[in-house]
Amino acid sequence: MNPVYHQAKFINSSPHLKDTPEDQGREVAFAGRSNAGKSSAINALTRQNALARISKTPGRTQLLNFFEINAGQRFVDLPGYGYAKVPVAVKKQWHELMETYLTQRKSLCAIILVMDVRHPLTDFDWQMVEWCRHTGLPLHILLTKADKLAYGAAKNTLLQVQKELRDINFPLTIQLFSALKKTGIDEVHHALDLLFNPVEPAGMESEEDDG
Ligand code: GDP
Repeated sequence: MNPVYHQAKFINSSPHLKDTPEDQGREVAFAGRSNAGKSSAINALTRQNALARISKTPGRTQLLNFFEINAGQRFVDLPGYGYAKVPVAVKKQWHELMETYLTQRKSLCAIILVMDVRHPLTDFDWQMVEWCRHTGLPLHILLTKADKLAYGAAKNTLLQVQKELRDINFPLTIQLFSALKKTGIDEVHHALDLLFNPVEPAGMESEEDDG
């Protein structure tokens, strides 16, 4: 457990990249299909029951929601994708907002991709995985609602998803999670610690010593 994540504070919501926190420091973005369990995961990780809103109305304005963890360290809750019945205009708005955020946000340092363990690797999930591979953005995957499956079945899904993703040849990490049972939280905190405080590659600082 890392209590630093419990001090998360809501900063603001915005339907575009204007009016967002200054693009400095490091920002970890939570992405996922609608209803995958993204808000519940953020609430469980921050130990705050109502930080990220749960069960939003389909079709409402899509927002980027920003949370401060520490000075210069933020979470952003990206709008969920996948309500079958949303109007085309909302889908278009979602695409534009995601594309703008993912391509322009300089402080974006990693994606946490939340998937329902019972429905992993949807088209949307593959798009995010491909985006991370294309840009080299670190990716950590949560297979959430693990409590909905027996332990053996959840573990099998984990192995299966790991196997499918191994072929794309990109170093991502993946784990089981349950916001309901609060399992997997330490593992996510550990992944976040590394994403927020990356270790410089060895040898970076040794150039001056060589001469
Ligand atoms: P979001 O749209 O991705 O933000 O999904 P939510 O966090 O709003 O969750 C969607 C639904 O799944 C809600 O009814 C949650 O209570 C439920 N849910 C989320 N996480 C879990 C979990 O770990 N276990 C179980 N059993 N239900 C969950």
